[in-house]
Amino acid sequence: MKNKSGKKASATFQLHPEQAALVPDVSGNSINGQGEIDFRRPTRIYWHKPDAIPHGKMQAWMVERFNRVPVFRSIYAEGDRGPGKLDPVAMHRTDVSNDTRVTGLKSFALQHEADLVGIAKLDRNWTYQDCETRTEPWIVVLGVEMDHVKLARSPSSDEDTASALEVATQYNRGARAAAHTANWIRGEGYHSSAHAGPWAGSLTVTPAAMACGFGELGKHGNIINRQYGSSFRLSAVLTDMPLIADEADEFGADDFCTRCQVCINACPVSAITDDKQIVRGVEKWYVDFDKCIPYFNETHGCGICIAVCPWSRPGTAPRLAEKMLHRRQRRAKEGQSIVPE
Ligand code: SF4
Ligand code: SF4
Repeated sequence: MKNKSGKKASATFQLHPEQAALVPDVSGNSINGQGEIDFRRPTRIYWHKPDAIPHGKMQAWMVERFNRVPVFRSIYAEGDRGPGKLDPVAMHRTDVSNDTRVTGLKSFALQHEADLVGIAKLDRNWTYQDCETRTEPWIVVLGVEMDHVKLARSPSSDEDTASALEVATQYNRGARAAAHTANWIRGEGYHSSAHAGPWAGSLTVTPAAMACGFGELGKHGNIINRQYGSSFRLSAVLTDMPLIADEADEFGADDFCTRCQVCINACPVSAITDDKQIVRGVEKWYVDFDKCIPYFNETHGCGICIAVCPWSRPGTAPRLAEKMLHRRQRRAKEGQSIVPE
């Protein structure tokens, strides 16, 4: 696969000497627990305070280069991320059923910029192991769609900023949706806190998004959703408001990945592999951190793998999901394994 410059970038990518000097001794894959057969919580690895993570100097170098480009600097510094301070929690709680509360919450979030909304019981194992354990019982996950035309311009450079700007624009939209949803909950008399990228908080949101029905993990390490493919970003709200959990949504994206090579061939640094790996006791698709991050840093966030994923093309995911579901049902009827050999 060739990138937008018409060349397979692996042949041309040279680690910038400044960045090369900042690579820590420890492998990011070890920090992530690649090859570890026992379960453990994740460790903070990126998008945290630089002095709290071994790759902090690389991250700071990336952020500094990003902020050198005026449109990148202003999109976060001046972009609208919603109310900076959340409302006080209302003194009185509304007396309604959980069903009514969930319907009201989801409808509010969808009317306030979220394109996807799901609810999961908070699993304490989603908290990073070196962070204070989150004790809120519920997590509301929000998704915002990205403009695929802009995303398809990945990777970005100082001159072609479309893709990275779109990522930042959608992180800002996700932040607004989360802040307004958190305020709605506070208006109902319950505590809430809002969490939005690109910075990571004290817990990893991707497993929560999968648990609440956003989709399946793809070979490129991102969720594939039956409506938007991988062309969306996440934000979240933690709360003590009694809610009802949604179910996970498995429609065959994982099966599709076992036969697809598109992101593997497109990744300029061969960070995506054809086999699942054991990571902290769980077998799953895994992207090589040590190969991905240097290129990611030098391209203001890369994004090639999610842009080229067939599921991300506008209008394609619903069709593919239907096809994969039919295939599953047919194979189940025939008594065959639902995963193609
Ligand atoms: S984001 Fe990382 S894994 Fe994806 S294409 Fe870019 S370098 Fe490869
Ligand atoms: S490009 Fe293909 S293999 Fe990669 S995540 Fe998308 S469907 Fe899966």
